[in-house]
Amino acid sequence: MGIELLVNMSYVAAAVLFIFGLKMLGSPATARKGNLVSALGMFVAVVITLLDQSIIDYKWILAGVVAGGAIGAIVARRVEMTGMPEMVALFNGFGGVASLLVGWAALYGFEANTFEMITIILSILIGGVTFSGSMVAWGKLSERISGKPMVFGGQRVFNILLIVAIIAASAMFTLYPESHLYLYLVIGLALLLGIMLVIPIGGADMPVVISLLNSYSGLAACAAGLAINNIILIVAGALVGASGIILTQIMCKAMNRSLSNVLFSGFSAVSAGGAAAKIEGEAKAMTAEDAYYVLEAAASVVIVPGYGMAVAQAQHVVKELQELLEKNGAEVVYAIHPVAGRMPGHMNVLLAEADVSYDLLLEMDAINPRMETFDVAIVIGANDVVNPAAREMEGSPIYGMPVINVDMARNVFVMKRSMASGFAGIDNPLFFKENTRMLFGDAKEMLGNIIKAFN
Ligand code: NDP
Repeated sequence: MGIELLVNMSYVAAAVLFIFGLKMLGSPATARKGNLVSALGMFVAVVITLLDQSIIDYKWILAGVVAGGAIGAIVARRVEMTGMPEMVALFNGFGGVASLLVGWAALYGFEANTFEMITIILSILIGGVTFSGSMVAWGKLSERISGKPMVFGGQRVFNILLIVAIIAASAMFTLYPESHLYLYLVIGLALLLGIMLVIPIGGADMPVVISLLNSYSGLAACAAGLAINNIILIVAGALVGASGIILTQIMCKAMNRSLSNVLFSGFSAVSAGGAAAKIEGEAKAMTAEDAYYVLEAAASVVIVPGYGMAVAQAQHVVKELQELLEKNGAEVVYAIHPVAGRMPGHMNVLLAEADVSYDLLLEMDAINPRMETFDVAIVIGANDVVNPAAREMEGSPIYGMPVINVDMARNVFVMKRSMASGFAGIDNPLFFKENTRMLFGDAKEMLGNIIKAFN
């Protein structure tokens, strides 16, 4: 009885750590601590499960902790900042397959009643969909498979039949649990459904899909927790499920699209219909030295980073330029768009790595009303998130998406290597505006040249 009380109290403590950790992740200033607190919660949960040997022998759990911890540490150390979304996709996939295995294993050793059977099937089903869906998302993001939406005639009908088959196989399995044929059928069909759900979605929408799959992996864990009657797994799964769906909604809102639009019509399919208007004009290039003269005289500068800053790994030189401008008497702030880069919080993480103060990072809604007051807006490898077509060009695929209105600043410097389009694959009228100058080249090199001119 004593042990049981200890186990339950520890599970409560772990749950509290998860919740506080999650709350801390809400602000860049406390996010690092939040990560540690949540990890501590998970550690407590695992160690306590060790004590509670009714599940499996502690040696196996220890082996799992060591092996999993080592693999996680190595992978996390090695991954490039630009490869982060892919890693998250893999994590979700592994979470899904873990729930599938837990559900499967729960079939052995005890006589499951109907409710338990249903939770077991749910954990296998959702876990399987999450696993194979995440693998496709990972393949698309890492460009191992084409990012184009894969569609074929009769796809919808096929998917409906697939779902009907899954329901039928699940029902048969609940009625005849001793027949493993139905179990294998459910697993196979769930894996197929995961693939079918993600292949028609374009590469550009993968981060949203990953966030959604993250939510699924939580639901799968929750079902697995119910299946094996483990409270902490239910709590952790519910937290992941809820936070994943909230994040998905935030991302959809930032792109001004509905979730069903993301899931059922690839971005490229949308742009094929709407990108009729071609933008004509002449972009004016300038040199680093010219940029220096303007910046040297500027009293207020807003820096708008995007995916290109991550590619160029320019965050440290950006910080250097910020300090030079400040020393020169200018006010410098950063404007962060919610979907700048390739994952939520991408820019915040990079700038935090370069020790940029959180107080200087302003959200889109805070910066836009005062954009006119800035002498210079420096766009560093951002494209879609500063595209005024979202405001001006009705019919553009991104029309209506909230963007950072850099074109309203007195001068706009755009740092990128070419006139190429951004992730959404559409032209950007910003480059042709009267007050815009292009600084063509790698962002890190270009910033280095401006810094040289300053020194
Ligand atoms: P974009 O992908 O629109 O543009 C990035 C720009 O960076 C490119 O035009 C590229 O131009 C430039 N670039 C690339 N490498 C370098 C380099 N080494 N030096 C300088 N410039 C470089 O990025 P944004 O951040 O503006 O927008 C993000 C996009 O991703 C949006 O479309 C958003 O919807 C999408 N997305 C983001 C999600 C998120 O969670 N953050 C989720 C889902 C989608 P060039 O090749 O000429 O150098």
